[in-house]
Amino acid sequence: MSERVEVAGVSVSTEHFIGGERVGSAQTFTDLSPIDEQPLAEIARGGQREADLAVAAATEAAPAWAALGPGGRAEVLHRLADLIDGNVEPLAAVECADMAELLRSLRGRLINRCARNFRNYADLAVAYEERAWSSNGTANRVIRMPAGPAAVITPWNAPLMLSTWKIAPALAAGSPVILKPAEWSPLSCSLLADLAVDARMPPGVLNVVQGIGEEVGAALVAHPGVRRISFTGSPETARHIGVTAAKNIVPFTGELGGKGPLLVFDDCDLEAAARKAAGQYDDSGQVCLAGTRLLVQESVADAFLELFHRFTDEHVLGDPRDDATTVSPMIHREHFERVAGFVARARAAGDEIVRGGKPAARGGLWYEPTLIVPCSNESEIVQREVFGPVLTFQTFGDDDEAVALSNSTAYGLSGIVYTGSANRAERVGRAVRAGTVWVNSFLVRDLTAPFGGIGISGIGREGGNYALDFYSDLKTLQIAEGTTS
Ligand code: NAD
Repeated sequence: MSERVEVAGVSVSTEHFIGGERVGSAQTFTDLSPIDEQPLAEIARGGQREADLAVAAATEAAPAWAALGPGGRAEVLHRLADLIDGNVEPLAAVECADMAELLRSLRGRLINRCARNFRNYADLAVAYEERAWSSNGTANRVIRMPAGPAAVITPWNAPLMLSTWKIAPALAAGSPVILKPAEWSPLSCSLLADLAVDARMPPGVLNVVQGIGEEVGAALVAHPGVRRISFTGSPETARHIGVTAAKNIVPFTGELGGKGPLLVFDDCDLEAAARKAAGQYDDSGQVCLAGTRLLVQESVADAFLELFHRFTDEHVLGDPRDDATTVSPMIHREHFERVAGFVARARAAGDEIVRGGKPAARGGLWYEPTLIVPCSNESEIVQREVFGPVLTFQTFGDDDEAVALSNSTAYGLSGIVYTGSANRAERVGRAVRAGTVWVNSFLVRDLTAPFGGIGISGIGREGGNYALDFYSDLKTLQIAEGTTS
């Protein structure tokens, strides 16, 4: 019988999930709720031993999982998707307690998206046809072979959605997974392991190891049995993982941080733009894709700011379980202090704090929605990802200046453009250096589209067939025409 705790009325295992079994560790770490900073659970703290066990289990499971083929695997993945849809309430309640994501968003959007990740990739893998053609007297084909065990390392924000976004293509492509969720929000991924059992997924196909990044995470990515590494998190951690991947010559993708521009042109629906800008404080700004640099055309700057302040005033800082709440607490005291440190340094450097700039009066891990006018585009607050409820405000004169400011950081994950002109949408949309640019929209996703970052925002692309290719080894098979038995 595995160690389990009750969280939000739901029973959750605090152990690893390896080879279809719950496995404990001699050591544990404490998982806190951001809502009240109280302990939720003592979680098994894995290390080299658990990484070894999990890679061995995945390696053993690999041949049979590969042999099932896309159709056989799709049956399992569809069962898992149905179980996720049937368990929205417990998954949402646990993730809300663990990460403080708004319960409303989890119920209405994020948990269903996890199910959609599995359905999407199950179907894509079945539909993905082998390329076949003739040339130079040979019949050529591209064969996709499962790559083998994949280490999947994920961050604390949207933990289940971001984990399933990687697990689903790996499993659909035939590669077993060892998932290492973030230590600040490990619980919803533990529930996913229970659902994998209910979905009759063969043991070892999905493994979940819990623990600290520098311990079990580092052991996992360095393991010689790992054939792919898929990481979502900060550029700083990606540099460590990338060095290990290079040493072992293992393909590595990284979906990393962002410092997205939100461009507001004078021909746009200003109210819609200002509302979207104020919406960047949702989830306390802990969203990699957020448009955190507000870049507004001079001619509409005053009118925009008036609307922006009005909409920001409407935010309700509160308990993420309440329907009225729009701004939840930050994930952890350490992260809260990190965000406060950015604001303190901005103030000291002469940047102007035009709203917020301090912990919220209600205490806890809430920080006031903050707007900063930097004294220079080189200010740290413009150039580095804060990952909190902190936006900057700058103005531009024309399209060229707007694009130059947009492209003036080392990041390139996403951009948001508000304009009423189709020509400008096309021109500026192409010129902004980012993996995804939304025009007059935000966070609309087609799961078949490539997703990733430019610059320090990422390496490689996930999404659609790009992800299926990543978790596969591609082989060209050439058979001379006329070859007969
Ligand atoms: P992080 O880099 O600190 O940690 C991410 C994961 O890596 C965690 O599971 C952690 O335990 C693990 N880890 C840490 N050190 C490791 C090591 N040496 N070896 C192996 N694993 C290690 O990031 P975070 O603070 O959890 O997440 C916030 C960051 O993630 C932000 O930069 C944010 O922009 C980014 N993010 C990006 C996307 C995207 O799609 N591009 C999505 C969400 C978050």
